[in-house]
Amino acid sequence: MGLKGKTAVVTGSNSGIGLGIAKAMAGAGADVVINSYTDSEEDHALAAEIAAQNGVGARYIKADLSKGDEARALIEQAGTCDILINNAGIQHVAPIEEFPAEKWDAIIAIMLSSAFHTTAMALPMMRQAGWGRIINIASAHGLTASPYKSAYVSAKHGVVGITKVVALETAKEPITANAICPGYVLTPLVESQIPDTAKKYGMTEEEAKEKVILERQPSKEFATTEQLGGLAVFLCSDHAAQITGTTLSMDGGWTAL
Ligand code: NAD
Repeated sequence: MGLKGKTAVVTGSNSGIGLGIAKAMAGAGADVVINSYTDSEEDHALAAEIAAQNGVGARYIKADLSKGDEARALIEQAGTCDILINNAGIQHVAPIEEFPAEKWDAIIAIMLSSAFHTTAMALPMMRQAGWGRIINIASAHGLTASPYKSAYVSAKHGVVGITKVVALETAKEPITANAICPGYVLTPLVESQIPDTAKKYGMTEEEAKEKVILERQPSKEFATTEQLGGLAVFLCSDHAAQITGTTLSMDGGWTAL
């Protein structure tokens, strides 16, 4: 699929789903911007590796997306943004009355407010180019809820909301905005939840994975970052030009329950 000549900015893309999507975009011929807040040697090496493996341009740009001005600067520094993937995310799990306010603020800022800032900056670039794709990585938790994830569920429902608004504001233009709603994907974010879950339920980590984490995922399989990359590339194709303002679930049947 030809994305040659397009630039994809993928937030939070030095690991997990963002990295999988960045690799898929590069595999389809797009130049990519890799982002995180870390600015390590490995981050820059990752961009160089993606460039070399795919014969595309790939750059690493540091931005801490908990800060609105850095989210805006990311798009400004990218210089061009035909495809915007809002993916960066964190998690914190606690009952609402014990939920630290600073964790709430960070989750809303990194996952929801950053999408507002990057979209506001990228849309004029897309309009100038006469084409654009906005793909927001929401979650099954953008459509359903779980206890103890108040900030995450609220942010992800918000991501679905802003996706719909942007789709309506761009409906008559060759720009689409959609949200992908993954169920559980085996990435560092999920892996870090396994030991705590096992401890809480007095189970082995293997049991915790199948019986607790994948409890609501009827397929009992994790989705893969490659599968998510494939869906994101499809959303950039001409076949997807009339898909806008919607959510696409990749959750092994979770939201069918
Ligand atoms: P991950 O921990 O592997 O990656 C998270 C990324 O976000 C990293 O690149 C990290 O550097 C970046 N990030 C975190 N804080 C940041 C900040 N302040 N500024 C810039 N970048 C920051 O996690 P993942 O599982 O790949 O998650 C990616 C997205 O997918 C998240 O939005 C997450 O909510 C969503 N998601 C994940 C799953 C899953 O099962 N893994 C399911 C549904 C949705």
